[in-house]
Amino acid sequence: MTNETRRNWKPATAMVHAGTMRSPYGETSEALYLTQGYVYDTAEGAEARFKGEEPGFIYSRYANPTVDMFEKRMCALEGAEDARATASGMAAVAAALLCSAKAGDHVIAARALFGSCRWVVETLMPRYGIEATLVDGRSLDEWKAAVRPNTKLFFLESPTNPTLEVVDIAAVAEIANEAGARLVVDNVFATPLQQKPLELGAHVVVYSATKHIDGQGRCLGGIILSDEAWIEEELHDYFRHTGPSLSPFNAWTLLKGLETLPLRVAHQTQAAARIADHLARHKAVSRIIYPGRDDHPQADIVARQMTGGSTLICFDVKGGKDNAFALLNGLDIIKLSNNLGDAKSLITHPATTTHKNLTDEARETVGILGGTLRLSIGLEDVDDLIEDLDRALAKAG
Ligand SMILES: *Cc1c(COP(=O)(O)O)cnc(C)c1O
Repeated sequence: MTNETRRNWKPATAMVHAGTMRSPYGETSEALYLTQGYVYDTAEGAEARFKGEEPGFIYSRYANPTVDMFEKRMCALEGAEDARATASGMAAVAAALLCSAKAGDHVIAARALFGSCRWVVETLMPRYGIEATLVDGRSLDEWKAAVRPNTKLFFLESPTNPTLEVVDIAAVAEIANEAGARLVVDNVFATPLQQKPLELGAHVVVYSATKHIDGQGRCLGGIILSDEAWIEEELHDYFRHTGPSLSPFNAWTLLKGLETLPLRVAHQTQAAARIADHLARHKAVSRIIYPGRDDHPQADIVARQMTGGSTLICFDVKGGKDNAFALLNGLDIIKLSNNLGDAKSLITHPATTTHKNLTDEARETVGILGGTLRLSIGLEDVDDLIEDLDRALAKAG
């Protein structure tokens, strides 16, 4: 095998070449190793591999060459020492959190979280004796006040789902360091191209690769990136013995996704910025939240920690749920779906879908109202999308 890894590649180059391991056939495209296991030439060879004295693969629950290529390419993009790919984004979040705390420890998480992430923190972890405190991620005072002697873990998402609130990652990392806790950041909404949590001081970054990294609606996947020591000491055995591993086929699909990630995210972000400005001027829209706009409530933090405005827009239509539903039902190109980061533009009504399990009060606290909609911009022509939205907004009064 020959390996492709160089330092100082810019993202677009790294996303096409980094991590590629060529077999003796010299294939251009990454090989898809659909295999569960590996054979050894001799009994001594098997023994040496199990002892870790000889490099090589043992079983695809532990590692697989195609999955390895995906992990290495993601490390190159993120600037991380090591990574483990998972079957879904939630498998990545659950593994990263569970491997960062044990019974008797305390976790602090920002309240505005993806619904399933919130369930892991609020419901699953307490079952195993890990207590959680939820704070307003925007308030550094709340993070500080929640610290206890047994606080071992901080968890946040930024920008948040669905209201695109921004958390000051560097400042929260400093509080975590003072507390002797690890900071895990779910970086899905910013993508690895627009925000680098490890450079900002976070200890672990997680992704749902299902979103922009695949970006074409095909498969689920996730990844955890961090320093080599933590992955070896805390994560490795968990993976080996509980099996949240990514399938080689999905790893191959995600490798192909990475090749076009910089192009897609650049187009989608440019289009999102134009559409956000258009919606902000529309009389049927009462609120617009887009990290790339000067009127974003935390525009100063966005300027410090993000290099792009994201591919997502959150907005409210006047008249609450009825008008929001009228808009949704009036769309033609933009599809109703709770997914995001896709080539197809997708829109969702969080209050009745992704965040329906929260109480009315909890929803209001994180800014999800009856008229709130989350829009993920795809790869369509931006003029067609604006026309689609205008036609549907006319039906929403
Ligand atoms: C989608 C998503 C997840 C979960 O990812 P899956 O691949 O669907 O399991 C976690 N966090 C955020 C922010 C997400 O958008």
